[in-house]
Amino acid sequence: MDESDADDPRADAESTAESVRAGEGHDETSDGLIDGSFSDDVDSVSDDGISEDTFDSNDPSGSGDVKSGTDINNLDDGTGDRVGDEADESDTTDEDTIGVGTPAEYTDSEYVDVSEIDTVGDVVDDGEEGDGRLFDDFLDVDPIFSNKEVLRPSYTPKKLPHRDKQVDAMARSLVPALRGETPSNILIYGKTGTGKTASAKYVANELQETSDTTDVPCTVEYINCEQVDTQYRVLARLAQKFGREDVPMTGWPTDRVYDAFFEAVDTRERVVVVMLDEIDKLVEKSGDDTLYNLSRMNSDLENARVSIIGISNDVQFTELLDPRVRSSLGEEDIVFPPYNANQLRDILEQRAEISFEDGVLTNDVIPLCAAFAAKEHGDARRALDLLRAAGEAAERSKSDKVKEQHVREAQERIELNRVVEVVRTLPAQSKVVLYSIITLDDESRAKMNTGEVYNTYTRVCAEINMDKLTQRRVTDLISELDMLGVVNSVVVSKGRYGRTREISLSVPRDETKRVILEDSRLAALDDTEFTDAVQSRLDDTDTDG
Ligand code: ADP
Ligand code: MG
Repeated sequence: MDESDADDPRADAESTAESVRAGEGHDETSDGLIDGSFSDDVDSVSDDGISEDTFDSNDPSGSGDVKSGTDINNLDDGTGDRVGDEADESDTTDEDTIGVGTPAEYTDSEYVDVSEIDTVGDVVDDGEEGDGRLFDDFLDVDPIFSNKEVLRPSYTPKKLPHRDKQVDAMARSLVPALRGETPSNILIYGKTGTGKTASAKYVANELQETSDTTDVPCTVEYINCEQVDTQYRVLARLAQKFGREDVPMTGWPTDRVYDAFFEAVDTRERVVVVMLDEIDKLVEKSGDDTLYNLSRMNSDLENARVSIIGISNDVQFTELLDPRVRSSLGEEDIVFPPYNANQLRDILEQRAEISFEDGVLTNDVIPLCAAFAAKEHGDARRALDLLRAAGEAAERSKSDKVKEQHVREAQERIELNRVVEVVRTLPAQSKVVLYSIITLDDESRAKMNTGEVYNTYTRVCAEINMDKLTQRRVTDLISELDMLGVVNSVVVSKGRYGRTREISLSVPRDETKRVILEDSRLAALDDTEFTDAVQSRLDDTDTDG
């Protein structure tokens, strides 16, 4: 492990540098900053773990993850040493030492917000465990990860198993660049998580490194078109990279921006490879003018050569292209097929070696992650997310090994986060219906029928002044919720009373409720009061059907 440990920081620093250079890769950049927001799923997974267990109730904003993270940082800044000392001298149980929130300590730090100090102080003084031991348990456990960053999407691996063919194909197309000739344009396709970005960046790094030793400089400009999503912005970005920092990100006529880039790039002999990642987003949003203009530049350039690598998650996107653009861009097509379970296993094993401590993964962990991800269209990102989340689950449960159950737990959590996303984007009426089901579930009715849901729904609508739908329509919405996997609704026979629908909640109640109440239209439903009100009315009036 020593060897790889030594490697990690370097690799990581490189990957960070790469992100900065790349600039627009929001996945890369934000990932570095906020604990991996790229893959929202998994992030909220890990952060939730923390906030639920420890911080949520103290989060003044009540809003969660990122905020909690900030608090934790402040806490660390102010008291890191103290907490550390505490851990060492575990005999010292004196309350003053614990006083993480003692104002005197905090005044040293310019960055600590007083209101937050109070909160922190309260937490520590309040709890029964307010003896400075909060972190001891966590510190006691042997670490699971040796370098978790390696599992994040921002990390560009040095080796890409099962992508030799694609990497070679790219290299073969680009090699003319090193001789000062124009390389052919390349179009790369494949579903998300098939290694397109990682492979392209890998090749780009290699190309630039080799080009340091050649006469004609060769640069690769990586642009993520999900962020830089108009022709203007792409051209402005390129102009800026070649020294025209005066070109604003909006406001000029596009022609002028084009000319600025053209002149800047043509000031000397060089080869420029413009790598347009998520190119389908650009074309969808603003058509193919960018590609058209970039691909015809060479006929006018005197000194420089420009070639394009387009990377697309959508195989069909070329149908949106003008045939001329299509033929000039697709001089070479490279396809990235989904990975199968065995390939994912290799990828995970390679990554696990440098991200986990020796021997913490039990044998079935990687195969299981690979199998889950293979089912989800062979997505390596998903596989890596799952592996990371499994490690975090092991950490949370203070296990010294990552086991099958942690993978399953992680898989469930990732699923759950998907559900949260589904709930968040439901139309208001569906949210009200779901809220009604939750309210009944709150009253520990595991199963309810449509009539009961409708009664509650009617009351909720009144509460928030929302027009109510007919029962039939509400039944439809319940079926939709069922299809989305949010509720379970089955029709059961009641003998001579006919048939009735039994509805139950299939998602965690509190989490879902929280998400629903984020909707400003429903926020008026003050939890506690409302539940009480409904409860009393139900006690008065409701009868089971
Ligand atoms: P895409 O751009 O096709 O959506 P990425 O290149 O971003 O996919 O890959 C997703 C994640 O999987 C990244 O973390 C990447 O490092 C990793 N990955 C993909 N393919 C491989 C591979 N062959 N070897 C190692 N890691 C890989
Ligand atoms: Mg990509």
